[in-house]
Amino acid sequence: MYNRFQEHLQKELTAIDEAGLFKKERIITSPQGAEIKVNTGQEVLNFCANNYLGLSNNPELIKAAKNALDTHGYGMSSVRFICGTGDLHKTLEKKIADFFGTEDTILYAACFDANGGVFEPLLDAEDAIISDSLNHASIIDGVRLSKAQRYRYQNADMIDLEKQLKAAQEQRFRLIVTDGVFSMDGNVAPMDKIFELAKKYDAMVMIDESHSAGVVGKTGRGVTELFNCKGKAEIITGTLGKAFGGAIGGFTTGKKEIIDMLRQRSRPYLFSNSIPPLVAAAGIAVFDMMTRTNELQDRLHNNTAYFYKKMTEAGFDIKPTQSAICAVMLYDAKLSQEFASKLLNEGIYVIGFYFPVVPKDLARIRVQLSAAHTQEHLDKAITAFTKIGKELGVIK
Ligand SMILES: *Cc1c(COP(=O)(O)O)cnc(C)c1O
Repeated sequence: MYNRFQEHLQKELTAIDEAGLFKKERIITSPQGAEIKVNTGQEVLNFCANNYLGLSNNPELIKAAKNALDTHGYGMSSVRFICGTGDLHKTLEKKIADFFGTEDTILYAACFDANGGVFEPLLDAEDAIISDSLNHASIIDGVRLSKAQRYRYQNADMIDLEKQLKAAQEQRFRLIVTDGVFSMDGNVAPMDKIFELAKKYDAMVMIDESHSAGVVGKTGRGVTELFNCKGKAEIITGTLGKAFGGAIGGFTTGKKEIIDMLRQRSRPYLFSNSIPPLVAAAGIAVFDMMTRTNELQDRLHNNTAYFYKKMTEAGFDIKPTQSAICAVMLYDAKLSQEFASKLLNEGIYVIGFYFPVVPKDLARIRVQLSAAHTQEHLDKAITAFTKIGKELGVIK
């Protein structure tokens, strides 16, 4: 049998490659950071990590993790409800709830699991999930696992959301689901209007704050801070794998009864291992840091504003952003790849995105800013963009 299957896979893989969609992985040999080393020996400035606060290689987190290895060992060898709940897990859950102003938190191995395990235990065939068209893949998969009726609205389109809410009035419960920040454009979900519509049409709200927590809002509390509606969402999901240290781990935080039910019924929680104590300990250190200071948010916001201003002045077309994501629009798939490859030769590591990751004719380079970037890093990137932009006729 395998001969035939092998042939089948080889054909598919060739097709992926010929379509120019084959993902190759660059191998990094240094810790994650603003300056990284790759296995060719080249040292580059990294503008494509989710390392928004520069915490991936933070000494305070490393110290907390090392300390936890000594006090709590390496692994839990259990799911949470058997013998996988440690004091560090409980402390971290409490700190995440305090950070978002919610009632309780449940940890998962990843936000992919948090989203995969949130809908099926809570909603049934009588209920409705109303989901933004650009929501993350894990939300889409999670929704598929539930029996609820599905409604989809165009990205951040409040007229369409209202239409879908009207269509879903027959259902018992309604849940609007949205990413806080959409990762390809860097735009935020209009939470003020979403909550207004939720009230008008009697719906609950879930926000995935993976790209917005730690980043958006003056103190990094995410889109509910930006729109002044902290504590209003029934459900918030997020990751420890982006701004909050970048290792691994996800969470759902929100209303007490919802979290209670997830602990009873959420399959990725019940049937998958507890996060290692060292990850929980570093997570605790992150949220302690977030409570102590907004220094990293300030630096990140300044860096993003500076990059956006200088690049716009240089003549680039950048999507308006309310996050740390800047989409430099090129509108041509081949150009986006050539541009990114030339930038790498200049020591700037960014990724060009094109269809099907973004709509046809909306190819772009996505730049992700970090609090770890210095003025010098930013200037080097802007200079390289300007040089290649002129060379390729993107700017004058
Ligand atoms: C990255 C991301 C996830 C997945 O997070 P992991 O913890 O890496 O599984 C889920 N949702 C959104 C919106 C994301 O950006």
